[in-house]
Amino acid sequence: MNFEAFRVEVRRIIDEDRIIESQGELMLYSYDASPAEQAMPRMVIQPLTTGEVSEILKLANEYLVPVVPSSGRTSLHGGPIPYNGAVVIDLMRMNKVLEVNLEDSYVHSEVGVRLDELNAELARYGHFFPPDPASSAAATVGGSLANGAGGMRGAKYGTVKDWVLGAEVVLPTGEVTFMGCRTLKCRAGYDLLNLIIGSEGTLGVVTNAYLKIWPLPEAVVRLRVYFKSIIDAAKAVGVIKSRGFRPLIIEFLDEGTMEAVSNYVREFKYPESAEAMLIIDIDGPPEAMDRYVNSMVTLLKETGGFEIEWTSNRDEMEKIYMARRAAYPALLRLFSNDRVMPEDISVPPSKLPEAVKGIRDIGDKYGLRIVTWGHVGDGNLHPNIIYNPSDQSSISRLHAVTREIGLLAINLGGTVSSEHGIGVLKKDLLVNELEVKGIAQLRLMKAIKKAFDPNNILNPGKVIDVD
Ligand SMILES: Cc1cc2nc3c(=O)[nH]c(=O)nc-3n(C[C@H](O)[C@H](O)[C@H](O)COP(=O)(O)OP(=O)(O)OC[C@H]3O[C@@H](n4cnc5c(N)ncnc54)[C@H](O)[C@@H]3O)c2cc1C
Repeated sequence: MNFEAFRVEVRRIIDEDRIIESQGELMLYSYDASPAEQAMPRMVIQPLTTGEVSEILKLANEYLVPVVPSSGRTSLHGGPIPYNGAVVIDLMRMNKVLEVNLEDSYVHSEVGVRLDELNAELARYGHFFPPDPASSAAATVGGSLANGAGGMRGAKYGTVKDWVLGAEVVLPTGEVTFMGCRTLKCRAGYDLLNLIIGSEGTLGVVTNAYLKIWPLPEAVVRLRVYFKSIIDAAKAVGVIKSRGFRPLIIEFLDEGTMEAVSNYVREFKYPESAEAMLIIDIDGPPEAMDRYVNSMVTLLKETGGFEIEWTSNRDEMEKIYMARRAAYPALLRLFSNDRVMPEDISVPPSKLPEAVKGIRDIGDKYGLRIVTWGHVGDGNLHPNIIYNPSDQSSISRLHAVTREIGLLAINLGGTVSSEHGIGVLKKDLLVNELEVKGIAQLRLMKAIKKAFDPNNILNPGKVIDVD
């Protein structure tokens, strides 16, 4: 690596006020939202155009300087952390919504636009971009595309990969390409766009994207229901799906989550006998909503739900949802002397009862507290493991617990990573999953990384280790 030569040349092409080298400011780029080890970048560069990103990558490739793309930095697996003195490319200044095209059903956006900002703009046209990570106030188009993010509405609308038509991608060599199409149908050779989506900034830097958009739901009703048993709550999800309901969201909160939230949000109260809570949004034409709600309430009662409430009032809906929105900060506050390892598995919805029971058993077996919530409409659970980072026994048990939860998901026909990605924290679990599904895939993944990034300069050490 010849960082000094890189530094001199970067200063020729990027304005000084868009290059950060002061320790105080660099510190802000040394972590993400995960408990992954922090690392200081050597430099942060804030490009404004695809051309600048291309020039930076050409130089990085020439001088063998590792570079890490960075956006909202809400990653939960260490993806944007610049290990080994890497340079950060901060894409937050590329933050314009370029075009909303209703006729062709897309929004063309630069990558630094936050998802809530994007949806505020689209709402003016009566449309929205459905993928909605719970971090949408800070998470961006680029970071969400690179992470293959999902969210609550995944139950009905899938994840980011289902909503990207095409994207401008700068390869690690600095070459600029447009992957995918602007049309809804696109079969132009191998699907490289879908390799980029979810590649966590290891194959290319995305600078702008054409995203599919959808008309806003006409009417939405939010229901909140408690269950005396988490198993019953998990079973209810399968019943909802098998009866043909396709709710917009089905969010699951276990007792530990409710306890954390009630300590954090004064207004939030829950019945003592409740082991779990579901938040369900159903949407449809206004004239059908009473019928939908009545059927859903009947179903929830049959499956053991109690204290069922529902509303279509915006403020009331937000009040119900606050329990879910506050879950992560509430947990961090409640266990402020410990650390929280956020996990992210998916199982087929029919296997949710076995999954929630299995997670509880694993926590008991290793004596670690696990607090679980999730977007259960698509079988996605987030078990959050509480551990003590200064206690070696606690750390060893954490590793055993994450491994067993991953294996549980795989054995139930699921996956170790639904939406948060692999980053640095889940590389071993990814290998575990590939061992079950066919380890030849690891060889292919390494070959793909090499084909895109022959000098391994782009976000090295993330997702997979290259030999
Ligand atoms: C409270 C909380 C709740 C969350 N809830 C969800 C959830 O419901 N669903 C979900 O999927 N995730 C969730 N996450 C995880 C995370 O917020 C999302 O995955 C989010 O989409 C990441 O976007 P970001 O802009 O913060 O990306 P960053 O964290 O900045 O980056 C993510 C990854 O993408 C790479 N990258 C960033 N920008 C680019 C680019 N332009 N080109 C190429 N690579 C790039 C980075 O190197 C990194 O590897 C949550 C996180 C928190 C803290």
